[in-house]
Amino acid sequence: MITPSRHLLPSKLPNVGTTIFTVMSRLAQDTGAINLSQGFPSFDCSPDLVALVEKYLRKGANQYAPMAGVPALREALAHKTLAAYGVSYDPETEITVTSGATEALYAAVAAVVRPGDEVLVFEPAYDSYVPAVELNGGSPVFVTLTPPDYLIDWEEVRSKVTDRTRLIMVNTPHNPTGRVWTTDDLNQLADIVQDKPIWVVSDEVYEHILFEGRTHHSLMTHPVLRERTFICGSFGKTFHITGWKIGYCLAPAGLTTEFRKVHQFLTFSTVTPMQYALADFLSVPEHYESLPAFYERKRNLFLDSISGSRFRFKPAEGSFFQILSYAGITDEPDYDLAIRLTKEIGIASVPVSVFYQQRNDYQLLRFCFAKDDELLLRAGERLSRL
Ligand code: PMP
Ligand code: GLN
Repeated sequence: MITPSRHLLPSKLPNVGTTIFTVMSRLAQDTGAINLSQGFPSFDCSPDLVALVEKYLRKGANQYAPMAGVPALREALAHKTLAAYGVSYDPETEITVTSGATEALYAAVAAVVRPGDEVLVFEPAYDSYVPAVELNGGSPVFVTLTPPDYLIDWEEVRSKVTDRTRLIMVNTPHNPTGRVWTTDDLNQLADIVQDKPIWVVSDEVYEHILFEGRTHHSLMTHPVLRERTFICGSFGKTFHITGWKIGYCLAPAGLTTEFRKVHQFLTFSTVTPMQYALADFLSVPEHYESLPAFYERKRNLFLDSISGSRFRFKPAEGSFFQILSYAGITDEPDYDLAIRLTKEIGIASVPVSVFYQQRNDYQLLRFCFAKDDELLLRAGERLSRL
């Protein structure tokens, strides 16, 4: 039995500390390093977007938004989703605006997972998935993907599905590897979950950041997956506004009903004036259609700047992260190297081992290239000296 103590609260998440993103960004700030660790742009969002927020602030859009999100934004999302993927979602019953994708992911997991359930998680995995599963009494079951290709062994996935499997977590384009799911991946997943009581949470926050003309195969485009998937998105990545913390969840009405029951007691509703501003901004497709070219140029700039270095890499297929292998440079553990490079050459990155449950160290670091060109070039020059 747990004895209550005034001083010690028994932890529900004993293995969780401060996230690596906080640790590395703080270290970068303390040391004055170029921060290519935490995923956020070093540049500002469009001034037009700021002007729209100002307009709605002055118009008095300063009270609670409806629980599901302001209708104009849900309608703009429905419109964009139909235009971009050819799939319809009803703004009334199938679209919910959330306080970032983080909230959407948590609410979706909480809506599905009960004590004793198993949840399949592909690792490397974004850090919020496993704590969300565990706080709801579920057990993560890992499918481990390895460099350089991070391809999914679908036979292994099949072998890990049991009667207790209730949820599968998907992330495409993928953080940290930049890998993008193919239609074959969608078909394989659909084949596995078809006719089983298994739901899917698909983290698609990098939906508009894909390179070399790749297509984002949203899980909503597969009919078997559409009917059992919570699609989680974020405006933070698409419009360079990670600090606004506004995301959304698209899911069939039956799933959305349960999702909203969680959402309304997690946050109730999301910041109002920004939602109106985003509704207007989202209605211009160029605002998100320009993203692939914008980030492909930055990725290439960064990779060109280290082409003479001893780092090895496979260019990211999507997202704004690039993984570099330092196997030809040093044998140090990736965590130690990330700290040392921040302190000694002033470049902060993220060790890829933190995205694995067992801290698998493949001698890889993750670099965020959502940064000003000048920072990327300076970083490349310093990394090339190693
Ligand atoms: N999922 C992934 C894969 C991410 O990289 C991030 C954030 N950076 C999030 C979710 C969280 O998005 P948000 O900031 O909208 O909560
Ligand atoms: N998603 C961002 C990253 O991967 C970080 C977000 C956060 O700090 N929680 O770097």
